[in-house]
Amino acid sequence: MDIVIIGGGVIGTSLAYWLADKSKLAVTLVEGNANFAQNGTASFASAGLLTPAAAIGTNPAITGLIKRGFDLYPELAAKLRRDHPELAGTGYFELDQLRIAATEAEEEELHRRQEWYVETGLAPEARWLTPPELAEVEPLVGPNFGAIIFKGGLVRPPWLTRTLARAAAAKGVTFKSGNPVTNLLVENGQVTGVQLQDGEIIEAGKVVVAAGAWSGVWLEQQLSKLKIVTPGLKWSQKVMPVRGQLLAVLPPPGTSPLRHILAGAGGYGYPRADGTVAFGATEEHEAGFEVAITPDGYSQLIAMMKVLAPSLLTAPVSENWAGLRPGAKDGLPLMGELPQLPGLWLATGHFRSGIVMAPSTAELMSEALINGSPEAIARLKAYNEATQF
Ligand SMILES: Cc1cc2nc3c(=O)[nH]c(=O)nc-3n(C[C@H](O)[C@H](O)[C@H](O)COP(=O)(O)OP(=O)(O)OC[C@H]3O[C@@H](n4cnc5c(N)ncnc54)[C@H](O)[C@@H]3O)c2cc1C
Repeated sequence: MDIVIIGGGVIGTSLAYWLADKSKLAVTLVEGNANFAQNGTASFASAGLLTPAAAIGTNPAITGLIKRGFDLYPELAAKLRRDHPELAGTGYFELDQLRIAATEAEEEELHRRQEWYVETGLAPEARWLTPPELAEVEPLVGPNFGAIIFKGGLVRPPWLTRTLARAAAAKGVTFKSGNPVTNLLVENGQVTGVQLQDGEIIEAGKVVVAAGAWSGVWLEQQLSKLKIVTPGLKWSQKVMPVRGQLLAVLPPPGTSPLRHILAGAGGYGYPRADGTVAFGATEEHEAGFEVAITPDGYSQLIAMMKVLAPSLLTAPVSENWAGLRPGAKDGLPLMGELPQLPGLWLATGHFRSGIVMAPSTAELMSEALINGSPEAIARLKAYNEATQF
């Protein structure tokens, strides 16, 4: 085996698909759960909003990765649909976004942000809507001070993840599930493979950790067993679970349908294919690995709804769910080969934007993994300097 990928979330399955599409390398992906995008993982719970201008800072390394991911989606979705009409697909569709100013202070800040979107080319079409203009295009929004409107999109993350897995399998990737990787195997300072819970050994010169929120703890255990010292924070602090809760409501008949993705009040709202409208998400840094719905989380989501779409407050709640994001320092993912252990690669810590960044992560990582493309390695190096990997 050339490459083993640990973790069958959107990051692992995207990478498997890209590697299979662009090379003849022998790739195995190991997923610990019985199912891909299983309840509790980020790729199960995720809202699936695609934004070229996700609000996670202005670091050009990350904004470039987000924009590239956003730009890759239309073609990726069409290709998966064309090659695999029998699969569920990705649920991809384009939908404009509204970033709403709920206060006067936010209005000022969002005017600056709109200029930044245009200047940086992240969303060159971004423009400002006054409150009356906003009321006309999106009647559900509550009292406001205007909004930025710009391009966006949506996918259904569990469909996307499972479709990528099936499409990668059709291209020759071996998949194993229900059998977590328990040991990293190393000889003479070089990765030689992995061992699974049932004892099976898979030999491989390169192992990619794409284990989502579980990556940090797993890496800490393995590196400490191997007595490999790395600088900076403990691994369990470099990638940590950050719980997110969402809820969906069923608007009563006759309600004006939601025509945009709404963002504001620290959250977002978006329409779903089943006619419900979902609101998310909490950002809980202290919940550990507990996947739970809580009264406090529920109250936070209701507070977001009050600002974003107050007329839906009386609509019955149809669903309430949670998942664990792979939170990394400053929200910046960790990607590339660990300098202290040749053969150990990371693709993790995508925090709140892992869906939009999945194709660009897979593209960049596969270029580096397939033939050590100097350009890709240089980009990863520059990126890692920015993220202090
Ligand atoms: C509530 C919520 C809303 C979100 N909304 C958005 C959004 O709108 N847009 C966006 O771009 N992003 C969003 N995100 C973020 C995005 O979903 C994540 O960044 C992305 O799904 C991370 O994917 P992943 O593959 O790294 O992790 P995961 O999907 O968690 O997958 C990791 C996998 O690794 C497996 N694993 C762990 N340990 C092992 C092991 N030892 N052996 C084998 N397998 C193992 C796990 O079982 C799991 O299946 C959201 C996340 C959440 C939780």
